[in-house]
Amino acid sequence: MSKYALIIDGKRVDSTPKTFKVLNPADESVVAEVPEGTVELLDKAVAAARKALPGWSAQSSEARAAKLMEIADLLEKNQAELAQLITKEQGKTLGGLGSNFEVGGAAAWTRVTASLNLTEETIQDDKQGKILLRRKPVGVVGSITPWNWPMIIAVWHIMPAIRIGCTVVIKPSPYTPLSTLRMVELMNSVLPPGVINIVTGDAEVGNRMSVHPGIDKIVFTGSVNTGKKVMGGAANTLKRLTLELGGNDAGIILPGTHIDPLLEKLFWGCFINAGQTCAALKRLYVHSSQYEEVVKKLADYASKIPMGNGLDEKSALGPLSNKMQFDKVSAMVDEARARGARIVIGGVKPKGPGFFYPLTVIADATDDMRVVKEEQFGTVIPILKYETVDEAITRANALEVGLGGSVWGNDPAEAAKIASRLECGTAWVNQHGGLHPMAPFGGVKCSGIGVEFNVDGLKEYTTVQVLNVAV
Ligand code: NAD
Repeated sequence: MSKYALIIDGKRVDSTPKTFKVLNPADESVVAEVPEGTVELLDKAVAAARKALPGWSAQSSEARAAKLMEIADLLEKNQAELAQLITKEQGKTLGGLGSNFEVGGAAAWTRVTASLNLTEETIQDDKQGKILLRRKPVGVVGSITPWNWPMIIAVWHIMPAIRIGCTVVIKPSPYTPLSTLRMVELMNSVLPPGVINIVTGDAEVGNRMSVHPGIDKIVFTGSVNTGKKVMGGAANTLKRLTLELGGNDAGIILPGTHIDPLLEKLFWGCFINAGQTCAALKRLYVHSSQYEEVVKKLADYASKIPMGNGLDEKSALGPLSNKMQFDKVSAMVDEARARGARIVIGGVKPKGPGFFYPLTVIADATDDMRVVKEEQFGTVIPILKYETVDEAITRANALEVGLGGSVWGNDPAEAAKIASRLECGTAWVNQHGGLHPMAPFGGVKCSGIGVEFNVDGLKEYTTVQVLNVAV
């Protein structure tokens, strides 16, 4: 019997044919052994969600909002335990922009989602007739989440779905299932059975979700490649999709920018969560006139940031989350080095256990290096030189992805004009990566389809019905 359990129809399933280990990336110790889900268990979870759907969607909007508020209270009450779990399974620090911040954000987002609503719209109401636009819950939602912000991304998927009357089956990443398993257990203490179900597993279970005839919509956050597979799988049943996929966000520092007051925001824009954030700054374009100044100042700033076990309060950044990510980041830095880039700081793995990769600032990077053209998702920032702002924008827009982007300068209004030319879902000025629960978030081009947050995000969990009444 495992401490951690799948939850199907309100019941714990703590024994399955196989288990898998969750490793602490700070020291590679085993944090937990978890029952592994199967496609048969997924089928049961989908059946439970279908069974719960009529009752849950028939509840009043106020009753569902009240449940979300109860869930927010539960997250806050159990914050210390949930934050510890995130740090142990994912590696981020307990403090700063780490796991307590993640759990606190998850509770806050839940409360804001409770406060949202969709009302009926009247399109026509006169002698010719009456036309109303209504939104109905889309049905059973399948949620597939990644390992970088495991709990808050699960909240971004689950809360709008249940707020609007859908029921959910969630599959967390096998690297970081623990905080989501515990959160879903807590949620089941206040929700009717079957409203939220959780099944662990990897590609096999995820793929079955994409093609499952009992699932009406998939909300997926993860890499572009897996997102394309999910979209392909969903085609057969024409499932609704929200895809929040990878990015490779560019930041452009305008010529003559006073860099000192911006350094702290620039650093965290690149390195929040050890760079493992979809909308982190991953390519920095700097004008040739101040290139060396920015390289030096960013490297100096980074060299003072302590990295270590996330449970140690002295650490400001933790390790990379898993070996797969560590190997990917190391290979990209090695390729850049071999092709003539200057590794100003970092670039060499420290001795000892864990997936620590040092903060690495790469100068003389070029657009054709893997660390620039692919999403590196780690503690690395390549800095690229440009001569004209038009050229920087063209290079920033040259990739297939378009999640976020930023422009940094002394005049925010001028910088905002330039930022609006970036091909991305969110363009920031003098900051990078800040999210707000009322500001819709999503990618353009290959970074995704649809948005999350506020009523635009809520609408993604509905279908439209027009009621056209003759008078
Ligand atoms: P991933 O695509 O490898 O995995 C994501 C999830 O998909 C996991 O739960 C995994 O088990 C599952 N999966 C794997 N194969 C599948 C298949 N064939 N069918 C269905 N599901 C399958 O991504 P990851 O490495 O966990 O996460 C990192 C990526 O997520 C990065 O690219 C990052 O930019 C992106 N991301 C995007 C956002 C956003 O909001 N746009 C937010 C966070 C992370």
